[in-house]
Amino acid sequence: MALLFRGALAETRTFPAGAFLYQSPSGAVVLFDTGYAPDTAAAGLPGRLYSRLLPPTVGPGDTIDARLRAAGLSPDDVTHVVLSHAHPDHIGGVRHFPAATFVMSAGIAETLASPRLKEGVLRALLPDWFASAKRTVLTAADLSPTTVRGLDLSAHDLLGDGTYLLTPLPGHARGHLGAVVEERVLLAGDAAWGSDLIERTASLRPLPGFIQHDRRAYQATALGLREAEAAGLRICLSHDRYDGARLLP
Ligand SMILES: [Zn+2]
Repeated sequence: MALLFRGALAETRTFPAGAFLYQSPSGAVVLFDTGYAPDTAAAGLPGRLYSRLLPPTVGPGDTIDARLRAAGLSPDDVTHVVLSHAHPDHIGGVRHFPAATFVMSAGIAETLASPRLKEGVLRALLPDWFASAKRTVLTAADLSPTTVRGLDLSAHDLLGDGTYLLTPLPGHARGHLGAVVEERVLLAGDAAWGSDLIERTASLRPLPGFIQHDRRAYQATALGLREAEAAGLRICLSHDRYDGARLLP
């Protein structure tokens, strides 16, 4: 923790990489992010560097395809894969979803097409077919002013029924996206390192601060999470721990 934040204790903390599944009443099956790949370190020189900085531990049952099967689903059941952003711990399982429509912001599409060095994109983790996979790329024109629990958002109604609203949560990575599900849960990706670490966003050390796409926006977004929480949304960050597997009873 002391590596991340100024003034933090030198404790060790592991950060799970969450993926969130939503089975909508309309039949759509939407996956938000895809977790780590078991072979991050094999993704060329950038993969080796990344694995040294943030060593992932991925057991045989930890990959997203295995987790879906354990929940009684096949990866082929997933109709939409939303990418919150292009970091390796969010795109590592893309390879399991050749039949899905990939949903991402224009910023994420640009990052994947021509990453900057500090963006830490490991394109070797993406399968060859990804370039021609079905995709929905959201631009500003796809976002509309939307009010959720009194909060003013700019959002894209993914399924057309208000159950799954994609909204920019800028700062952490180019085009970083979150999702408001059934007006109850905010899937917030990497808008902060953890629910208990939102206020620490302002005291990031230089290296973890440098890898944020826009530090000021990152801090503003993190504070916005507390507003969303006060409005009654449950904030679910990718690297939080979840006791139960079910967020929407
Ligand atoms: Zn990230």
